[in-house]
Amino acid sequence: MSRISIRPAVLAAFCLACLPAIARSAPCLDADLIVRNGHIVTVDAAHPSASSMAIRDGKILAVGSDEELAGCASSRTQIVDLQGRTVLPGLIDIHTHSMEWAEGILREQLDATYPNVHSIADIVAMVRGRAAKTPKGQWIVGAGWDDAKFGEHRYINRHDLDAVSPENPVYLEHVSGHLSAANSAALKLAGITSETPDPNGGVIEKDAQGEPTGIVKDTAMLAVSKLLPPDPPDLPMRAAKLISERALALGLTTIHDIYISPDEMRGYQQAYARGWLKLRVQMSPQIGSIQDAEQLVKMGVHTGYGDDNLKFGAAKMFADGGMGARTIAIYPPPVEGEPANFGVLRWTPADMQKAHMIAARAGWQLETHAIGDRAIDEVLDSYAAVIKELDLKDPRFRIVHAGISTPAIQKRLADLHVLVDGNPPFVYWIGSWFRKYGPERVRWSYPAKSYIEHGIIEGAGSDVPVTPISPWWGIWAAVVRKDLATGEVIAPEERLTISEALRLYTYNGAYVGFEETKKGSLEPGKLADFIVVDRDVMSVPSDELKDVRVLETYVGGQAVSKYATPESSKSN
Ligand SMILES: [Zn+2]
Repeated sequence: MSRISIRPAVLAAFCLACLPAIARSAPCLDADLIVRNGHIVTVDAAHPSASSMAIRDGKILAVGSDEELAGCASSRTQIVDLQGRTVLPGLIDIHTHSMEWAEGILREQLDATYPNVHSIADIVAMVRGRAAKTPKGQWIVGAGWDDAKFGEHRYINRHDLDAVSPENPVYLEHVSGHLSAANSAALKLAGITSETPDPNGGVIEKDAQGEPTGIVKDTAMLAVSKLLPPDPPDLPMRAAKLISERALALGLTTIHDIYISPDEMRGYQQAYARGWLKLRVQMSPQIGSIQDAEQLVKMGVHTGYGDDNLKFGAAKMFADGGMGARTIAIYPPPVEGEPANFGVLRWTPADMQKAHMIAARAGWQLETHAIGDRAIDEVLDSYAAVIKELDLKDPRFRIVHAGISTPAIQKRLADLHVLVDGNPPFVYWIGSWFRKYGPERVRWSYPAKSYIEHGIIEGAGSDVPVTPISPWWGIWAAVVRKDLATGEVIAPEERLTISEALRLYTYNGAYVGFEETKKGSLEPGKLADFIVVDRDVMSVPSDELKDVRVLETYVGGQAVSKYATPESSKSN
């Protein structure tokens, strides 16, 4: 229930002398909408705050005081009295797997996320319940489990699942997206036995007797996941609608959806054509092989193609695995307790560079997942070669996560002007995974303050479904850096101020997507994407930042989401 009142403009004050003196690019006349009497946080260093903002044709006409903007109104102008409430630029999440997340909800997969699930016993009970209602032979699928949150402190294995689902194949994806647990029925269908070797870039976990445990990691997941039943053709379109509704309610006005399939890109386009997509989306296609890169380039489109609502973003590749799967590619020392584990690399350096070159030459911005220091170096070597070879001036290539970002790596990021798809909420939700990599690496995990100090531009991503889609978890976590499991502050030197955290989710997000002239701050000429929140985020105690409620979301000057009930604005 918003208490913001809306009334028609009563004064058709029209005189040139009344035009606002500051922060305007075009004459401020005949606005469609004026929001006034607010605390507008602009994220524009030249005019950091204002009380009033005028909008016409989806763009900001002027930002200033109520008096300065009074002359922007005509008889038709809608005036919104903000009653002192705080306004922020619409938030930007540059790294989501929103389609994967929303499709999982629509498929009614088992939701094994924390705090829904605390133990292997909880998941086993969930699978037992589903097996009782599922015809023999049909798949049981779920996602979101995290062994670090289990009392048992181990992965789920096939024996746990066989006991309650002997006749239905079961496939349960880990929250990291880098491993899954399958039961014996599923392994049998996939043809995985004690004889099956690890695929390139993947691991089939085996027990002391050499038998598969049911855990498949990274590229080994595909042998099972490719057998899952096909989705109804309209699923991605319905998922796009759900994404738009949920994201806007939380204050996101732009997301990047990363590593999506052609069907999912089609789903976004269909939802947009139906008027269901009010959220702005950058779609990032996947490159898993040199052949993928060649196919993508054959389409003849590249980064930026589309419009302000739906466009192509970067082309996405994976260099290594995940921290949860312990498959990130690292230099010595190895993973604690696993002396031979230095992680996996999915590409040879030569092939990676070839794929990068093919895509970049055709105009694609590159973004490559790399968490371990060894993987990040491999990607930076390749980026450096591509930038040099193609003589690129402003490629804005991105490292996705850059989880272990040592001072040496930061220097390379700064020198090459490579951007980071950072993940502030990881510190809270999955900070306990960092510890398996030793204290030195914990110190350099997701070092947001160091990036600012070294001029490295970081945008922020939830990586949903890895962490909840709500950006408030990330803004809060960037400020406090508390680990959920222990309550400890991880690398306190890397905590940000609220202004710095907000910038990751606004201006920097826009910059990463080549959109900083259009969004990311509230300035004349930019798109009128903004949110009204229920408290003054600039002055509340840090711990309240995760509880911020978005009262209204505007995209292009249109109110597209209004806070209604606690249910409708619940995160994730
Ligand atoms: Zn991701």
